[in-house]
Formats: sequence, structure tokens, C-alpha cells
Amino acid sequence: MTAIIQAALPVPLARVFDYDHTSALPAGVRVRVPFGRRQLVGVVTGTTTTADERFQRKPITAVLDTEPLWPTPLWELLLWAADYYHHPLGEVIHHAMPVLLRQGEPANYQATIRYELTAAGRQVQLTDVKRAMQQQRLLAALQHAPLLSRDIRLHEYSSSALKALQDKGWVAAIEHHPAPAQSWQLEVAAEPLQLNPEQALAVAAISAVNDHQTFLLEGVTGSGKTEVYLQVMAEVLRRGQQVLVLVPEIGLTPQTLKRFQERFAVPIVMLHSALTDRERLDAWLDARGGHAAIIIGTRSAIFTPCKALGMIIVDEEHDASLKQQDGFRYHARDLAVKRGYEEGVPVVLGSATPSFETLNNALNQRYAHLQLRRRAGQAKPVQQVLLDIKNQQLKAGLSTPLLKLMGEHLAAGQQVLLFLNRRGYAPALLCHECGWLAQCQRCDAYYTVHQGSRQLLCHHCGAQQPLTPQCGDCGSTQLIGRGVGTEQLEQVLQAEFPDYKVLRIDRDSTRRKGSLQRHLQDAHDHKYSILVGTQMLAKGHHFPDVTLVALLDVDGALYSSDFRAAERLGQLYTQVAGRSGRASKAGTVVIQTHHPEHELIQDLIHNGYHHFSTTALLERQLTQLPPFSYQALFRAEATHASSAIEALMAIAALFPQRDDMIVFGPIPAVMERRAGRYRYQLLLQTTQRGLRAQALRYVVPQLEQLPQLRKVRWSLDVDPQDFS
Ligand code: ADP
Ligand code: ZN
Ligand code: ZN
Repeated sequence: MTAIIQAALPVPLARVFDYDHTSALPAGVRVRVPFGRRQLVGVVTGTTTTADERFQRKPITAVLDTEPLWPTPLWELLLWAADYYHHPLGEVIHHAMPVLLRQGEPANYQATIRYELTAAGRQVQLTDVKRAMQQQRLLAALQHAPLLSRDIRLHEYSSSALKALQDKGWVAAIEHHPAPAQSWQLEVAAEPLQLNPEQALAVAAISAVNDHQTFLLEGVTGSGKTEVYLQVMAEVLRRGQQVLVLVPEIGLTPQTLKRFQERFAVPIVMLHSALTDRERLDAWLDARGGHAAIIIGTRSAIFTPCKALGMIIVDEEHDASLKQQDGFRYHARDLAVKRGYEEGVPVVLGSATPSFETLNNALNQRYAHLQLRRRAGQAKPVQQVLLDIKNQQLKAGLSTPLLKLMGEHLAAGQQVLLFLNRRGYAPALLCHECGWLAQCQRCDAYYTVHQGSRQLLCHHCGAQQPLTPQCGDCGSTQLIGRGVGTEQLEQVLQAEFPDYKVLRIDRDSTRRKGSLQRHLQDAHDHKYSILVGTQMLAKGHHFPDVTLVALLDVDGALYSSDFRAAERLGQLYTQVAGRSGRASKAGTVVIQTHHPEHELIQDLIHNGYHHFSTTALLERQLTQLPPFSYQALFRAEATHASSAIEALMAIAALFPQRDDMIVFGPIPAVMERRAGRYRYQLLLQTTQRGLRAQALRYVVPQLEQLPQLRKVRWSLDVDPQDFS
């Protein structure tokens, strides 16, 4: 008897594929199957009796697992995510697997081979092989101790010598399976802090819940959110359950790990980009087997299976890096909440600056709202300074009052931190005689001047060319950089404050592996007095000696076409302000702007993020923007604008016309042309979440048939975060 097995495959088609097999297989088991002329690793989604008879079925080549890879709640989450994001299930599942599992490797810890002397081998004298130097060396090593295949020392010996000794029967290769790490028990390494009343309330509220409940822990920077995490985690770990912690990309620092390790003597796995594929699989197995007590990782860690999950924590839940911006465009925070529901465990979303989506859920009581309003320990509130730079003389974007303030803080032995979200020397190269601007040929964008590498660089497509000495139009050599980037700022500051060392932290200065960590450590250790950086510096780093922080240019965000620009500015300002005066030193935060009267800025400064965000949320409600409506964005790009437009028009035509559903576009993206391709967008917006799902469920399956889509690169983004 044969069964018809349905398998999800890593192909961009929104369907499963039928194969024959001798028996039924459980969902979640990997199979190797023929697909066209290739062999693919797919995952069984079910067994059916009603096959699609249009296709000729082939047999499964191999079954790769004896049991499903994912526990039921996580498997349910994957199915849900494919449906919610209208993304092919095969790609969703593929994304959720460690690379080695995608490639069909066994879901086991690697077997290591142990090379050791046989009884015969132990009788051999080194002089017996004196004519074979390589064999003699290896024999000597093995007489000393056996060698493991994963031991790097093995590379010092020739593999043919090893083979020769095995052929002579002197050396045996014995497969050696490392036992999985033992079970663990909570041991508290360092004593918890004495909680302040707000912290105690938060810990009590979260610890009282044994089932699913989402909490928003809204706590100003330095209010001790991490201490709250640690104390609620202790309860979960004490019960023998695991905790999954999601952190922003950049927050995944050794300091984070250290804080957890100092508190808990339990196995902690950290999923970060520097892991090898093998290490990643081992960590995945540790989590699935229950051998790891705490699992810390960036967004994709949300797909880590856990044997006994007890809690999910999402730190900095507002952070943009939680949203995947290409391929399978999921939001890890939203999946965390859904996973918590499937697993029946509490979810804690922590932030000093909650996203408006989360805040709204807290205000309408879908989430429990916990607030920490005061800075923990000794920290004092910061002093805020608004500098009007209208008609002011600026030196590389720095006003005279700011330079004076810097001088005072530096003279007092403190550190100063400056933010400018523009890397490079100058954002454009301008001809002083004719007004020509050096423009990227492939994008609607100007080249950025990079003085250090003497290059013009397009930050949108990566195009580069040597820094030209002459105008491309009139031939004049009067070329000047227009505007200021971090590279120029660093140079000017060094000249302005020759007695103090300047450190720049941006994507250019941290390209080499490990250099970001080193820079952050140096900044922390006060090896530099002036720190200059892009947004990179705003997240989660503690610099105890920084007492002055300045945002040099916020005006762009005040008049942006992106409805989330105000929210992001509020978050940036608040996070940045939190970098200053953390320990016992009073801090100052400065904003330079041409629009000091702007109500956003006024609200932020006088009333703080919580007030600012609740007010801005009301405005979203009035204008029916998310989270008060539900969006999905189709993007299309092509070498001809007309192809992209026609593709989106064909999609738009599939949507029924309704009063409670807007289909807007096609409109050009903010940057209409990038890397030589024209980019257009079509926005779907509904007043009900269910209506969006219903509309997409009707439209998306038809897209495969649209001939207009074959000529373009297109994608669908459900809950888009960014419209660039
Ligand atoms: P957040 O995560 O909210 O930014 P942290 O948890 O990093 O804040 O806490 C900021 C500082 O305050 C840390 O140095 C921490 O050790 C200290 N801290 C936190 N809670 C307390 C407390 N209850 N008593 C004393 N110090 C505390
Ligand atoms: Zn010119
Ligand atoms: Zn370009």
C-alpha cells in the first residue's frame, strides 16, 4: 500500500507537492524528493487521499527524520505565519531551519571519530616505521593520546599517513557520539538586587501568570527593565522551564550575555551571526532537547524549538531589526506574541519607547501594561537643551553654543556623544561654479563623498567611482562637499578639540569583524572623549562617563512623507537621551533644529515619550493609519517603469471594490530608480484585519497566473514597516 505524502518545498510557489511513499509520514519530518531535475529537501505537511491528478507523482527519495523537527506549538506557528504573511509555506519552513538541516544533514549532534591505537598498534615501535616519517610522527602522537576528528591538531598530520596506519590495522577509527549536555538546575550565581516598588509590582504581576498573557514593560532608559527580566526569569528557570530572549541585532553584545551569566549558572546558548553552521545546529538541538536553559538571539531565534518553554522576552520590542525586510517579511515581535499564545506562556515586551502597535494593544488592555517611570539606582534625570540653529553659524553642522557646551563637559573629564545619521564625508559633491551635483547613474540619488578612501559612493546601490577633481558638466575644479557626514564631523572635531581623542562609530568604521565590539569597549572604557556615530550608537550601550549627548540634525524627520517618521524620531531622541548621565552623573541632551517650535519636539521635551506617543497615537486614529488600519504593500521593480506599473495594475484589478478597503497606487517608491531598476508600490489598507486576510487569500493564489508579473521582481509585505 502506498500513501500520498504532501511536502512543502523551498520554492516560491504557494502550494505543497504530492509524492508517493510506502507509508504515511508525520507532519514536520524532512524528506528528500525529486523536483524537476533537482533533488530538494522538503518537509512533510500531511498525507492525503485526494491527489492532484494533473501531475505525475514520483516517489520520495529518502526520509530524513524519524520524528518531526518541531514541537506542535512551533509547527502551528509556522503554518500560521505562512497564512498570515501570505508567504509560501515551503519558504517559511526553510527559513525556520538551521542551514545544515536545510541541506539535509541529520538533526543530531555531530558524531566525532576517535582515532586510537589497536592492540596490534600498541605493540609497534616507532623505529618500525622509521622510513615513513609522517607515519612515525602520527604514531608518536597516538601513543601519547587518541585524536578526535574535530581536534584541530589532526590537521598537523598527513591524511595518507593516517590511512596507511589504518590499513596496517594499527589504528582504529571509532565513532564517538557526544552525549547531549546533562540536565540543569537553577543555580543563582549573583544575588538579585533589591527591587524598587515599581519593579516589584512588575515582577509580581508577570510571575503570577502561568498561562499566556502579553505584558508591555514600559520603562524609561535605566529604569531597571533588565533586572525585572532577570527576576521573572528566575521563577521560570526554578520550575525547570526555558526562557527565550529576543534582542536587537546590535544589542547582542558580550555585555548582554555577561549579565545573564553573572546571575544564572545555567546553560545559555546565544544565537549570533558569528556561529558556524555546526554550532548553530548544536545550539538548536540544545534548545529542542531542553539542554539549554536560556536561549538568546536576534529575530530568527523566534523559530528555535524549545522542549519546555516557560516564557518569551522581547527586549527593545520597538526595534526595527525585529522586522525581516526581505524574502519572508515577518515581524519577530508579533510572532513572539503568537508563539506565546500557542505555547501557553507569558510574553514580556520591554522598551523605553514602545512601538505604537504595542502601545495601542496595552492601552486597549489586550496586553497588561507595566510601567517603570523612574531611573533605578542613583541616576538623575537629564537636562534637555533645544538649540535653534536658524541663521546660526555652523561649523560642520555644529552650532557655537553646542561647541561651548562640549568644551565644558570635556574640561570636566566627561565624555561627549554626537549623533548624525549620515555616514561618509559629505552627502553630495557640488560644483561651486555651475551647481552640478555628482549623481549615481543607476539611482535617483547623489553620490556620497568618502574622503578617506577618496571615492564617490552610492549608498543605495553600492556603485563607486574615484573622487573626481573636476565638475562633470563645466570642468571646473571648484568642487565642494555639500552637507556633513560623520567622517567630516570626526575630522572637524579633532581639529577643534586637539587635546581630546575622537572615535567614529558607523558602518564604515566597523566593517572589519569584531571592530564594532572593540570600538564599543574602547568607548565604554573612556579611551576616547568624543564619540561620533550614526544610529548604531543609539541602542542599548551603556557608557558610564557620557554626560552630554547631542542630536545634530533631526529636521528631516519632522517633515517626512513616512507616517512613522515621528514615532521613530521620538524613539531615537528618547533612547539617545538615555545614553547620558546613567550612573551618578547628571546628563544633558541637546537637539539642534531649525524648527524648535515644532509640536512634536515640544511634546517630546516637555512631556516625555509616553505622553508624546499617546498623543501621536490619537492622530493615527483620526487619520486611520496603523495600528488603526491594516496594510499590505506590493512592491514591483523592473528595468522599465511601465512593466512595474502594469504588474501592479494587474494586481490591483484583482481586488474587489469595497468602501472599507483602499487599494492605493501604483505609485513610485520614494526612490523611484535604484540600481537601474524602477520601483513601484501598491498599498492595500483595510479597517479590519480579517478583511485584509480575506482579500489577500483571494488575490495571492491568482498571482502565479498573471503574465504581467513574469517581467518584474515583486514581493508582498504584510504590515510593512518601511516604504522606501
Ligand atoms: P534598563 O534595562 O531599563 O535600561 P537596567 O536594568 O540596565 O535598565 O538598569 C540600569 C542600572 O540600574 C543598572 O546599572 C542596574 O544594575 C541598576 N539597577 C536596576 N535595578 C536596580 C535596583 N532595584 N536597585 C539598584 N540598582 C538597580
Ligand atoms: Zn560645474
Ligand atoms: Zn546608486
